[in-house]
Amino acid sequence: MREQTPQHRFIPAGIQAVCSACSISRAIQQNLEHIKEVTKDDRSPVTVADYAVQAIVAMVLRDLLPEADCIIVGEEDAAELRTDEQCSIRSAVVEAVRTWRPQATEDDVLDAIDACNHDGSGDRFWALDPVDGTKGFLRGQHYAIALGLVEHGKVVAGVMGCPNLSVDQGHPLDVNDPEGVVYAASEGAGAWEFAGCNPDASPMKILASTYLEDKPLRFCESAEKGHSNRGDSGRIIDSIGEEGEPARLDSQCKYALVARGQADGYLRLPTSKTYVEKIWDHAAGMCIAQEAGAVVSDVKGTPLDFSQGKRLEQNRGVICAIDGLQQRIIRSVSDLGIGQD
Ligand code: AMP
Ligand code: MG
Repeated sequence: MREQTPQHRFIPAGIQAVCSACSISRAIQQNLEHIKEVTKDDRSPVTVADYAVQAIVAMVLRDLLPEADCIIVGEEDAAELRTDEQCSIRSAVVEAVRTWRPQATEDDVLDAIDACNHDGSGDRFWALDPVDGTKGFLRGQHYAIALGLVEHGKVVAGVMGCPNLSVDQGHPLDVNDPEGVVYAASEGAGAWEFAGCNPDASPMKILASTYLEDKPLRFCESAEKGHSNRGDSGRIIDSIGEEGEPARLDSQCKYALVARGQADGYLRLPTSKTYVEKIWDHAAGMCIAQEAGAVVSDVKGTPLDFSQGKRLEQNRGVICAIDGLQQRIIRSVSDLGIGQD
């Protein structure tokens, strides 16, 4: 279905920012070994990508929007990056940003990163996860660039780049696509797909699946055992009469799978009593899934509350699923006593 996108007025800026950042993060991911060699640190490529993406997103938003609309809650700040110990990382970040904007100075880059140090209070801010799914990024697999817009404690828009995910749902999830795909959604206006991480691609409207009693259900969960309780997801899947293992992949790409009808449920079940989910890990993905018709809540069925600063203090775990199934999962969670303590 090709249509005009009715949308939040900031969506074009968000799409431009995320699409610009996708090409840089892709180049860094393709250069993992070289960066590790230069910086003598196995995690450094994701650090470089985090900082470079954050700088690019901040710079594009600043180019396209008034300063007051460029308040960003990002995961990183540049204080450490300014120290002598970080000088090789700093050079790699500046070099990466310059492949996109050759005239950027080191100060421009550091200042743009610092511009993302908002605390998550206030009436309007962007929540940015520059590289969501860092483990996937380092394994050369899926990750997402996730940018959500929070107004008065509610997510009103989301843009998410999935640089290794194919727009073609028949493409195997464990094979990277060279083009990638970007999703965008605005409250009340639906969710949209941009093939090839290209802001000029014709947007295609996406819709989650319809729940039918006799249709087999497809689930997904984190690739990281520590991020979602696999024993509990197995018990839930059993209890609703299904079989098989969920698809496992990193990042908010899982929300996109539900949003585009490729999965019916994304389960994120607490692995500890103390972990509190971060707003940047859910803002963009949740908005996209909800606008495609899916339902998102925590394990108790409570909507995610983005009015609490940087963390989802009022929630535990996340269940994102198609309408009908979502409510059934919440009943199972309650019957099985999962995440209730
Ligand atoms: P995923 O790729 O879906 O596994 O999610 C990646 C995100 O999980 C990271 O951005 C972290 O912020 C977050 N994370 C880290 N530790 C935990 C944990 N114990 N439980 C749930 N999420 C976590
Ligand atoms: Mg993350």
